[in-house]
Amino acid sequence: MTGKTIPYGRQHITEEDIATVVETLKSDYLTQGPRIPEFERAFADYVGAKYAVAVNNATAGLHLSAVALGVKPGDKVIVTPITFAASGNCIRYCGGEVVFCDIEKDTYVMDAVKLEEMLAAAPQGTYKGIVPVDFGGYPVNLEKFRALADKYGLWILEDACHAPGGYFIDKRGMQQRCGNGHFADVAVFSFHPVKHIATGEGGMVTTDNKELYDALCLYRTHGITKNPDALQKKEEGGWYYEMQELGYNYRITDFQAALGISQLKRAEKGLQRRQRIATRYTEAFAPYAEKIRCPFVEEKIFHAYHLYIIQVENRRSLYDFLRANGVYAQVHYVPLHTMPYYREHGSAGVSLPVAESYYEHCLSLPMFPTLTDEEQEYVIEKVLAFIGK
Ligand SMILES: *Cc1c(COP(=O)(O)O)cnc(C)c1O
Repeated sequence: MTGKTIPYGRQHITEEDIATVVETLKSDYLTQGPRIPEFERAFADYVGAKYAVAVNNATAGLHLSAVALGVKPGDKVIVTPITFAASGNCIRYCGGEVVFCDIEKDTYVMDAVKLEEMLAAAPQGTYKGIVPVDFGGYPVNLEKFRALADKYGLWILEDACHAPGGYFIDKRGMQQRCGNGHFADVAVFSFHPVKHIATGEGGMVTTDNKELYDALCLYRTHGITKNPDALQKKEEGGWYYEMQELGYNYRITDFQAALGISQLKRAEKGLQRRQRIATRYTEAFAPYAEKIRCPFVEEKIFHAYHLYIIQVENRRSLYDFLRANGVYAQVHYVPLHTMPYYREHGSAGVSLPVAESYYEHCLSLPMFPTLTDEEQEYVIEKVLAFIGK
């Protein structure tokens, strides 16, 4: 290697991407142009949802979803602790209370068994909703979560930022893509450069529910509507619009949507490459199963591999060793319930042993479609050199 560093994730921008953006920059629209609905339609079709609403980033998309789902001050919502802060923060923006549910030790996603224990132990109506995360690209089995949500009267906000293109197989043998709207009420995706599809900043909310879709659109742009059917005063004139709710400006730009459309065309190829990289790591580490724990995969899922996470005994030393050798591995994530902010807001003294033990050992190795075979071999060589020491 030549003094270059290898990050854990990286965007891939092609000449075609650039040409598409330039073309859009030369068009009449910088912001609300034709590329946005085109991107929304293409993305909805990609994940198999009825509706998609493009937004300026996934954090805004999560907030918008919480608003559309009607989160009110004091509402209790159950969130997984192993996730990016935004999965919980969106509830806090609305004044809701975040309660954490521990993860499964193999898949690292929210544990449905523990969730049911929490729900059964509280009076009916205690909780309003749940925020599961398709963590690292591992698709949550939302069929199970939907059954619980129906039993206890909850909504589901799926944080699918890690998993566009991932799916699980349901009881009837059908593929259920992350964010397809069949089980979750809403799902949110991110187009941050380390994610599968990059638009700079950007995100998408998907749903099968027309009412939620209308609310998402309204709140995305100040709570303002010009839709003649929705107006309270009908005969004001062509200029007339109404602000009906207190909304936000969470819009994406037309040239970002153009980049998203172009990137989406390569999404399947990117997933295939991620799968191959994962297979190569897993094969290389298989002889050292006692020292390196590889991601768990079952037959009934298609892992989207946003992250390739290993667990090792001495994570801190491996992190430092890799870094000294130019490999910028990363830790995903510091458990949310241990953050000073969440400790001050209800989580002080909360103990989630599986999440905490996971955090002690986890490390995300480089995983992105343009990682070359040579770079990956270098990463493997360094990991094994450390293990052998
Ligand atoms: C990246 C990410 C977000 C936030 O995405 P932005 O587009 O950067 O706002 C939210 N949740 C998860 C799980 C993420 O990985």
